[in-house]
Amino acid sequence: MGRWTRRGFLLAGGAALGVLGTKRYGDELPSMVGTQSLQPTDRKLYMNDASGLSQTPIKHHFITEQSSSNGLVEEIRAQLKTAQAEGQSVAVGAARHSMGGQAIPRDGRAITFEHDFLELDKAKSTYRVAAGVRWHSIIKQLDAAGYSPAVMQSNADFGVASTFCVNAHGWPVTFGPAGSTTRSLKMVLANGEHVICSRQENQELFNLVMGGYGLFGVITELEMDMVPNSRLTPTYEELPAAGYGEAMVKALKADPSIQMAYGRLNVDRGSFFDEALLITYRPTDDQGDLPEVAGSGFMSKASRHIFRGQLGNERVKNWRWYVETDVGPVLGGESTRNSLMNEPVITLDDRDPARTDILHEYFVSPDQFPAFIKACQEVISASYQELLNITLRYVAQDDESVLSYAWEPRIAAVMLFSQEMTQRGEADMARMTRDLIDRVIEIGGAYYLPYRPHATVGQLKRSYQRVGEFAEAKRRLDPGLLFRNNFWDAYVSQV
Ligand SMILES: Cc1cc2nc3c(=O)[nH]c(=O)nc-3n(C[C@H](O)[C@H](O)[C@H](O)COP(=O)(O)OP(=O)(O)OC[C@H]3O[C@@H](n4cnc5c(N)ncnc54)[C@H](O)[C@@H]3O)c2cc1C
Repeated sequence: MGRWTRRGFLLAGGAALGVLGTKRYGDELPSMVGTQSLQPTDRKLYMNDASGLSQTPIKHHFITEQSSSNGLVEEIRAQLKTAQAEGQSVAVGAARHSMGGQAIPRDGRAITFEHDFLELDKAKSTYRVAAGVRWHSIIKQLDAAGYSPAVMQSNADFGVASTFCVNAHGWPVTFGPAGSTTRSLKMVLANGEHVICSRQENQELFNLVMGGYGLFGVITELEMDMVPNSRLTPTYEELPAAGYGEAMVKALKADPSIQMAYGRLNVDRGSFFDEALLITYRPTDDQGDLPEVAGSGFMSKASRHIFRGQLGNERVKNWRWYVETDVGPVLGGESTRNSLMNEPVITLDDRDPARTDILHEYFVSPDQFPAFIKACQEVISASYQELLNITLRYVAQDDESVLSYAWEPRIAAVMLFSQEMTQRGEADMARMTRDLIDRVIEIGGAYYLPYRPHATVGQLKRSYQRVGEFAEAKRRLDPGLLFRNNFWDAYVSQV
């Protein structure tokens, strides 16, 4: 099978798809606040994120320069000292693809990690990596040695420490979130101490920082699990949407050789969320001589036109479902684990300054999946929002992270909406998000925290029942509240 068909018609494998490029953060931007365009009336420094809707004034933006570990720690200590002296908050970020200011310090000092080092330990099946290294660089370096990341998100643009800080998940199975595949990390605390956190040392901090959105310190490096790279081939199964949760669990139990798995639902309004497609990847018999990791294939790029053509067009949505279910299985061929994971976000960029791609994600137990489908059918259909894609994953239980979203095994549903950048678009999205979160909480589920800050504080408390403990630890371990971002300002500070 030619290289371009391997990644195929399925629009970037398990990828959440979409966005960005044009709406990344930047300095001194005249951009969006709420939903109205602002004129640049002053020379303030601003920072935005992937949503294009989080423009926030900051005082200073520092990009790390040092490549040696010691140099980096000294650089960070100096930044923290200056921030403390000037009464500023600090927030670190890598790609700033979170969508609600989770990596932006209001009127504070932003730090962006750009440095790179990676060291393999084959005996332990781990690698040590600098905090800001992006996944495409990690994949390339592991690939050359025959390895692959254990767990990462579906796109490869993000920073590895960010992945730990949001406790991200992907579509390799049957793993829990990325925190479960992290052995240890080093971080600089508010008092300048550089400490190791792991399951053996500073365990309380380790569990707080895992999924803790950078509120406890600056991570400088991590030790992560790796697995052998492999050649995989997909199998496709069509089924009624309501049966998806049960089918995924059954498939994974029946065949431990499955290494990657995801699902899709149809999104056309006529039969919205009635049908599902489950795709599972197993190793082929031939594991010799794996090809070098590929980037986004020709078909992934070409499929952008179908993907974007869905906007306001039910016929194209229908056609895409036909392509996914009927053409994909014919053309979808072998790929390596690394090539499947190496998908850039930019592939399906909307290139439309009047709209923005907004992600939502919900975690429900597999047996509540039919109730989840019903909730989505009622709530999303009643909104004006354009849902272009939903990807379904399996996430194993996470008992470690204080802000765990998977206190039991979960089906994760990642949705990509194309939102109008207007007041009415934003108001409708906020209302719809809160309605959907209420329905998900009713069935014992949780919503994901790196996206738009539309949830209420009450919904945060009901979704994340240990958030009170998290807030208490934050005040105890960072009494000067040096590390702050919009997740603190809008949510945790009010708990
Ligand atoms: C197109 C798209 C696809 C996505 N797919 C998935 C997916 O498949 N699975 C999934 O789980 N999520 C997914 N997400 C969400 C994504 O994982 C988060 O938005 C993540 O934060 C992105 O990484 P980043 O480098 O942009 O993080 P940033 O936004 O830069 O940072 C995220 C958080 O980490 C903190 N942080 C970063 N570096 C450090 C550090 N060195 N020390 C301390 N704190 C730090 C920041 O302060 C912030 O709170 C997706 C998002 C997009 C836009």
